[in-house]
Amino acid sequence: MSKVRTRYAPSPTGKMHVGNLRSALYEFLIAKHAGGDFMLRIEDTDQERYVEGATEIIYRTLEKAGMFHDEGPDKDGGFGPYVQSERMKTGIYLNYAKELVEKGEAYYCFCDRKRLESIKTEVVEGKEITMYDKHCLSLGKEEVEANLAAGKSYVIRQNIPNEGVTTFHDELYGDITVENAELDDMILIKSDGYPTYNFANVVDDHTMHITHVVRGNEYLSSAPKYQRLYDAFGWESPVYIHLPLITDENHKKLSKRSGHASFEDLLEQGFLPEAVVNYIALLGWSPEDNREIFTLEELVRDFDYHRISKSPAVFDIVKLKWMNGEYLKAMDFDQFYEMAKPYLEEIIKKEYDLKKIANMVKTRIEVLPDIADHVDFFEAVPEYDSSMYAHKKMKTTPESSLEVLKELLPRLEEQGDYSNDALYALLCEYVKEKGYKNGYVMWPIRTAVSGKQMTPGGATELMEVLGKEESVARIQAAIEKLESELV
Ligand code: GLU
Repeated sequence: MSKVRTRYAPSPTGKMHVGNLRSALYEFLIAKHAGGDFMLRIEDTDQERYVEGATEIIYRTLEKAGMFHDEGPDKDGGFGPYVQSERMKTGIYLNYAKELVEKGEAYYCFCDRKRLESIKTEVVEGKEITMYDKHCLSLGKEEVEANLAAGKSYVIRQNIPNEGVTTFHDELYGDITVENAELDDMILIKSDGYPTYNFANVVDDHTMHITHVVRGNEYLSSAPKYQRLYDAFGWESPVYIHLPLITDENHKKLSKRSGHASFEDLLEQGFLPEAVVNYIALLGWSPEDNREIFTLEELVRDFDYHRISKSPAVFDIVKLKWMNGEYLKAMDFDQFYEMAKPYLEEIIKKEYDLKKIANMVKTRIEVLPDIADHVDFFEAVPEYDSSMYAHKKMKTTPESSLEVLKELLPRLEEQGDYSNDALYALLCEYVKEKGYKNGYVMWPIRTAVSGKQMTPGGATELMEVLGKEESVARIQAAIEKLESELV
């Protein structure tokens, strides 16, 4: 068997969206799982859609995602050039197109725009379809040559018979057979000399020895035409895997408008590249067990493309957030701290031990920007309502809280050691003395020092970070607040 070779073949038309990333990832995994090569090919034959800087985004994205290519424009593997506009200059596409003309599988077409516009369009399933009427197929050889010699503008079209059927095989969809009469004589070489994507992908996949092609199922309807090209050349076609659509929660196609981000947007929103890659791997693929967390190496080991599913995958940002949270929880603390620090510094200007705070939030957030909501009170106690002191389960009321705070204030003023352990012992001592339940005391203290219903740590952990002066000041302020509001 020949070496597995896959390619990611993006058109440099903008950002790399989730669907593109999934195709790239599956191509990467298929190659690496089989010990093969993963190649990058830039498909820039549609000069009108070319976007400046898009190629750099592709490189950056693959690198951040850890999907390193073995071959590409920046890494020669003997199958270059790896950019289609450069390949074109070698004459490869035109030469192959001419070979098809010789074989009667393609023909020159000199129809001008006016004539093309006069060909009637049909409406099939709500879509306007124009099939070229083979007008130029009947031109004699001399006529064609005379036109070429006169410098007349031309395209080269694929010659698809009106009778018979074409069958191709897709790994997910099985054998698909279509009537040839439904296939348009598509353009292979455009009037500007560039090949169409439709032609270039076949020539390139063959000449670059690609064994598996993964792409979105929007290409499924063109696949029979590609199959006819392979057959016409007498080439073996690669294994095709057309991936089902990725939809949003409402089962609509993912789009930028519905707020669905590119890979780089997701990173900007605070997602980790590893988590995004892990999540995207599961958009249409699942392992034998129900495992969900995979490193890229584990995906390489376990990825079996026969387990890709045909049903549409739903991009669920809630699930992605959960997964990202799992990655943060599992992350080494020092690495987490480096990443969390800028977010902490943004909110906390006072001189607190940021490492301790980072340690408190590590297991509580899903994405790094969540940090802000968890730590804002360190800087200043927010406005809050005294009703927050009432907690059913803890059996506290604003009145009971005021009493506890007033009794504890002198002890906390006297206390020298403000470590979590010492403070905890102090509060437990008081709890025991009074015969209270723990929460009856912890709840008011925690509320007083944070002004928040939820905090990343318990009362004494927070006080340890705040230190004596600030903790005491906050408890004093809480007492004043309650006294003024309870009259
Ligand atoms: N250049 C095509 C795209 O970006 C590639 C499709 C394919 O993988 O064949 O959609």
